[in-house]
Amino acid sequence: MSIEKDLEKRSNGVCELCGSNEDLKAYQVNLNDDGLDGSVLLCGVCNSNVDSPKEIDMNHWRCLSDSMWNENQIVQILAYRTLKQLNDPWANELLDMMYLDDEAKAIAEAGIVSEDDSEVKKDANGNILVEGDSVTIIKDLEVKGAGFTAKRGTVVKGIGLGDVAGHIEGKVNGTKIYLKTCFLKKV
Ligand SMILES: [Zn+2]
Repeated sequence: MSIEKDLEKRSNGVCELCGSNEDLKAYQVNLNDDGLDGSVLLCGVCNSNVDSPKEIDMNHWRCLSDSMWNENQIVQILAYRTLKQLNDPWANELLDMMYLDDEAKAIAEAGIVSEDDSEVKKDANGNILVEGDSVTIIKDLEVKGAGFTAKRGTVVKGIGLGDVAGHIEGKVNGTKIYLKTCFLKKV
């Protein structure tokens, strides 16, 4: 995939958060703006845990003390969000030292996935999603683990909110999958 080739060039073939070279894949940072390319290259561990960083040994995220200075702002935004979610004294100390311009900071803050179960889920236009809504997928989405692509334009009826931050549950091709709310529009 060419996007991963580009990312590998930028990152010298290592995870842009922790520097590992294992199981590298592109990760799409939610920027709530289709005009910005939010791709970063992450290793398997970072990729699966960056949305809920507290699930793994916190020491893994010590790498953020380096990656928060990455020259790519998207990597910085991701590091910022991850540190915020960790909400641990050392992480907060790094946040204090970190420099993000106002615009980047606003984007970073806006995309922080809430740990609160009562998180309000919103589609790409900011419309609030509730159980039973129908949504249209606005971008081809590769479904990890399921081996198919949820095509742009697919209508998903009767969604469930599920318990994964930033995602809803829905049936596509007869399979129940999680879909990122930023790639959906309420019908
Ligand atoms: Zn990593």
